[in-house]
Amino acid sequence: MRKIVNALLPGRGDQYRGEVLFSEEKILAVGPHIEAPEAEVIDARGGLVVPGLVDVHVHLRDPGFTAKETIVTGTRAAAAGGFTTVCAMPNLNPFPDDADTVGPYLQRLKDEAVIPALPYACITKGERGEELVDFRALRERWGIRLFSDDGGRGIQDERILERALRAAAELDVILCFHCELLSLRPAGAFMFEGERSRQLGYTDQVPDADESAYVKMVCDLARRIPARVHICHVSAADSVKYIRDAKKAGARITAEASCHHLTLTEWDFKDSNDKMNPPLKSEADRQAVIAALLDGTIDFIASDHAPHTVQEKAKPLPEAPNGIVSSETSFPILYTRLVEREKRLSLNQLIELMSSKPAERFNLGRIGRLEPGCPADLAIFERGSFTIDPERFESKGRNTPYAGETVSLSCTQTISRGRTVYERRRG
Ligand SMILES: [Zn+2]
Repeated sequence: MRKIVNALLPGRGDQYRGEVLFSEEKILAVGPHIEAPEAEVIDARGGLVVPGLVDVHVHLRDPGFTAKETIVTGTRAAAAGGFTTVCAMPNLNPFPDDADTVGPYLQRLKDEAVIPALPYACITKGERGEELVDFRALRERWGIRLFSDDGGRGIQDERILERALRAAAELDVILCFHCELLSLRPAGAFMFEGERSRQLGYTDQVPDADESAYVKMVCDLARRIPARVHICHVSAADSVKYIRDAKKAGARITAEASCHHLTLTEWDFKDSNDKMNPPLKSEADRQAVIAALLDGTIDFIASDHAPHTVQEKAKPLPEAPNGIVSSETSFPILYTRLVEREKRLSLNQLIELMSSKPAERFNLGRIGRLEPGCPADLAIFERGSFTIDPERFESKGRNTPYAGETVSLSCTQTISRGRTVYERRRG
């Protein structure tokens, strides 16, 4: 049994000073003072203690792209960001797209991940957007409930999209869509087509309809077909509108926003470390995404942690790969920018959006809660002034737009199922 003392805990209203008692399995008690003389004591030194964060959107790159990241480094990076559960996207080699490849992949996740890592399987074979995977076989043989088209071409043919929803509607599975209409995306585009790209003289960039037209297509189908669908990293005001209307019409739809779309815009674009998909949009889009998070149209926050090597990101802008690393920065950045500076979210709201909300919406069980009886997944954040230094990341990736930024929280320890899985290095 262990007990965290001297902790700042998220309460119903404000935070309060308290303690958390837990065993190898479960949280046993949470409160201002807990009598447990036999427990080993962890002194949080006034730090913030949160339920282990839940991230349903990470790219672990393993198997297939281990120069970028591995199951070990990717889950260690997540733990270093306060996460205790991640869901790993399927743009891998081999693709987890049939019952034979998924078996060994699942086993590796179980053996190598330092925190629970749940796999997505592909929606189509080889992520080519053509032939559907056998959802039922993957569900029944391996218990796979999450399917995604992220990282590939997406499904560009609406008839195949419709067939995917019809197949999924009969099963207890969630289909995640990256939402990118390739016909609207000029080759080599690397930036949002807006005021900033025009000012820089970059033509033929990515219009917001590249995302929102696809979101509309998914929303329209989800109104007719009762499949559980999820929209990844919403970044455009129009997308928000379509999701809001579809939810009102009863579609079984959830959506996520990522830290970078909540905190950055086209005006922050400097180099390939700001190149991601969907691209950073206008301030009006950012405000629409924040408003959607506040009114529940967007259900929760996910990181879209997407590591690449320094060499890959050093390529000229049109060729450099999309994506940024964000496991280790999402919570501190969102706290510092949206809670402290912009005062758009309360701390408790931010915690919920990154723990209990994704866990609930994805039916991941009783994780993401700081309550007796829930799994002993916790993270401790020191409060103060800290500089984001990519050289200190646990991730292999260094591709962050937030290098050098000052944040007010730093994760000192992460506990997964009662065991310490991350402790910050001294110095
Ligand atoms: Zn992604």
